[in-house]
Amino acid sequence: MLNRSNSQSLFERAKKNIPGGVNSPVRAFRAVGGNPLFMSHAKGAYLFDEDGNRFVDLINSWGPMILGHAHPVVEEAVKKALSGSPSFGAPTRREVEMAELVCSLVPSIEQVRMVNSGTEATMAAIRVARGYTGRDKIIKMEGCYHGHADSFLIAAGSGAMTFGVPDSPGVTKGVANDTLTVPFNNLNAVEKVLSENVNQVAALILEPVVGNMGCVLPQAGYLQGLRKLCDQHKVVLIFDEVMTGFRLALGGAQQVFDVKPDMTTLGKIVGGGLPVGAYGGKKEIMSCVSPAGPVYQAGTLSGNPLAMAAGMALLTYLKEHPEVYQHINQTGEKIAKELRSQAREFGVKATVNQQGSMFTLFFSDVQVVNYETAKKADTTLFGNYFQHMLEQGIYLAPSQFEAMFISEAISNEVVDSILTASRESFKRL
Ligand SMILES: *Cc1c(COP(=O)(O)O)cnc(C)c1O
Repeated sequence: MLNRSNSQSLFERAKKNIPGGVNSPVRAFRAVGGNPLFMSHAKGAYLFDEDGNRFVDLINSWGPMILGHAHPVVEEAVKKALSGSPSFGAPTRREVEMAELVCSLVPSIEQVRMVNSGTEATMAAIRVARGYTGRDKIIKMEGCYHGHADSFLIAAGSGAMTFGVPDSPGVTKGVANDTLTVPFNNLNAVEKVLSENVNQVAALILEPVVGNMGCVLPQAGYLQGLRKLCDQHKVVLIFDEVMTGFRLALGGAQQVFDVKPDMTTLGKIVGGGLPVGAYGGKKEIMSCVSPAGPVYQAGTLSGNPLAMAAGMALLTYLKEHPEVYQHINQTGEKIAKELRSQAREFGVKATVNQQGSMFTLFFSDVQVVNYETAKKADTTLFGNYFQHMLEQGIYLAPSQFEAMFISEAISNEVVDSILTASRESFKRL
């Protein structure tokens, strides 16, 4: 049994002054039972908790730790930036270089604005799309998560899905009325909604490969079909690549699937582990953003020197080391294949969805293609598997409806340890 005494006492203290004891809901372990572990530090493929337990990390901060934890390249860049003062509130050279880098890496981005989180990025992106089109409504997909802004907390994935409160109290009816939802992977549904709301829809936003109802892939032709429909109806197509950006490829899902959205939102990897988000797209659209245009959006700490240094160091490293993607993608494929075969061996119903270095093991015998089918997964079985893995030193995302993220630090040796633990976990189910 893991010693959890320090985590336990920290959690008791945390609950007194932090709602639910955590600063983001999924961390609380409510979906898998038990209490959260408190982390003290991490290096490479491993997390270390307050009781000195070591875990292979398959969350990697939900993406940013794509090279593993405490990578020297990022660490050095932040140290150097820190000695020059952590913030100015005035323009800096790094912001120019960062914008140039992002525009050169992401195929559809001509201009980009830095913000401080993925939530800010998506929130700003739809405001810009509304300002640009002069229309109010947006379309989102059931089970996609775009951060915690009001407009997106309608049939949302991630923590909102885990806790069964897709519509949060505090979101007004007016806001909810402007958000139209359709099932993922269903072009007819989008076509129907567009024809019922002629000239009213500003934007269609989605995760091109979903991470937030677990990993769900777009079916062949789906993204191309959305591109076509958005062109026909003059709707701004927004790819929320906060998870997939710089992960599925340097140019994100839009590069992998060769579909150009009008706007893209970024987060997670773009900050190298510091709080950064970004939104960008066609120059014509981005020119609406203040002070170039009338759509207001601002941020005291946006383009922060430490954050820019971390993000730029990470992106530059990824650009110079394409073999990183080869390694993490192959690792993803290998783990998915082995998990399928283990599930078969032990007669456990399982569907493994995987794209590059993202994957989800759904405890379900139906193909998972959207929110409806994702929800069919057996969350109790997942909770048991999660706990067996944790006991054996493997830290999975603490919910059935999340993706796992592979880092460069997960070597073939580490993969073997994951698979050995998984085999034992399936056996114990
Ligand atoms: C994480 C995530 C967000 C929100 O980003 P935060 O930095 O947590 O605000 C938005 N969209 C997607 C697809 C995400 O995965």
